[in-house]
Amino acid sequence: MYDKNNIFAKILREEIPCEKVYEDEFSLFFNDINPQAKIHILGIPKIDCIDLFDFINKSDAAYISSFFNSVNSVIEKLKIDKTGYRIISNSGKNGGQEVPHFHVHILGGEKLGSII
Ligand code: 5GP
Repeated sequence: MYDKNNIFAKILREEIPCEKVYEDEFSLFFNDINPQAKIHILGIPKIDCIDLFDFINKSDAAYISSFFNSVNSVIEKLKIDKTGYRIISNSGKNGGQEVPHFHVHILGGEKLGSII
């Protein structure tokens, strides 16, 4: 069950601030409070969804497409399309997810260490 009091739900309701990078009708992208690289942005859709699986199940094709097109807009805006980047989405206990609202991490701006 979706927890309406998770920190990203509060950010979406503007109950707590964030450093916005990009926003449209469907999604919000903002800087991670504890960056793990020079560029570390979080992207979230504006619907109640826990993780990628939940987001895909609850959304239609137009919403899913819009969200991932916004990821591309952010990549373009940050000019990391040529230098490269990493996208991560953690899910659940085994995936090490801390905040239970679906999000992608967009990391870049420098050479990233290997994770697998
Ligand atoms: P997860 O482990 O759930 O994939 O990642 C959650 C991310 O949210 C972490 O990278 C953490 O630094 C970030 N985070 C947690 N609380 C806040 C907050 O209040 N504001 C922002 N901007 N990021 C947060």
